[in-house]
Amino acid sequence: MRWICYSKKDRKPIYLTREMFESDTLNRPPFTYNYRNYAVCPACLNPVQIIGVKTELRNTPEPYAKHTTEEIPGLDAVIDEVSYRNCPYADPNSRQKNQRYTLRSPSYLSKLIIELFWTQLDRIFYIIERELPISIPWHLKKQILKDFVGYKGWRHPEITLLNVPWMLLYCSNYYPLWRCEIKDEKLRLAISKIKGVEFEENNTNVIKHDGRDGLGFCVIHHRIFRGEHANIRESINFVVAKNLDQWFFQKGILDISPSNEILFSKTLEIKADYFYNLTHPSNPQYEKAHKRALQNILPLLEQVHFPKMQN
Ligand SMILES: [Zn+2]
Repeated sequence: MRWICYSKKDRKPIYLTREMFESDTLNRPPFTYNYRNYAVCPACLNPVQIIGVKTELRNTPEPYAKHTTEEIPGLDAVIDEVSYRNCPYADPNSRQKNQRYTLRSPSYLSKLIIELFWTQLDRIFYIIERELPISIPWHLKKQILKDFVGYKGWRHPEITLLNVPWMLLYCSNYYPLWRCEIKDEKLRLAISKIKGVEFEENNTNVIKHDGRDGLGFCVIHHRIFRGEHANIRESINFVVAKNLDQWFFQKGILDISPSNEILFSKTLEIKADYFYNLTHPSNPQYEKAHKRALQNILPLLEQVHFPKMQN
């Protein structure tokens, strides 16, 4: 992996290069210990060893970070083997079989993720709406959060401090497109051809009736790709489908296998530093607008019985 941070207090994701690591740490402890180099994983907060600082590696010119459960004196990290083994940035071989679908037990990480919802919910939805070709109306925000609570998403094995907005979508269900505003022309065109779909009169991008086929969207396929030079890419897929099953079910035709017709699909790249940078803006003016937006949206968490923040 190439993303690191220096402590669990300052968990700003930094893209690792030799130059940067040397000038930031100056070979001092705790980042240099026993003639080895260390930092912290910004996704799961476990210690990582930096390989290839003093000497260039054969397969990659730049150093990379590798998770470790070794306790490094003075390093402000969390030793949490379960979150390390499930971290998308960790070596996949370290993962135990069938771990992917096992919920984590409550941990420091799940506590921090719950805190992010209570302090950054407006920004979580801001990212979601920026990434999606549709806007999410209020009633759907509530439903998405309700599903996340149902799935206990803060304990999902692959949720990290960096992918919270995307994993909120991943840990939720299939929703009708009713009252959603379509922002993508290609998607709008595909939808407009469906029988029964109607748009609002005053805003012709908002769906007034989602058709008899159960037109809706969901997010599937959380994937991790391991590229060259220890770069890791993480993504999920947004799909809009006609849920034919629902229609057949209503008609009483039950001997039919699942047959969703995908109308639109978009891969959403999970950028490692995007969520952190949005939640730590340099301009204090953003902070004011954020406080106001947060106050407006927080009642949703109460309504869905989201777990409370712990001290
Ligand atoms: Zn990690």
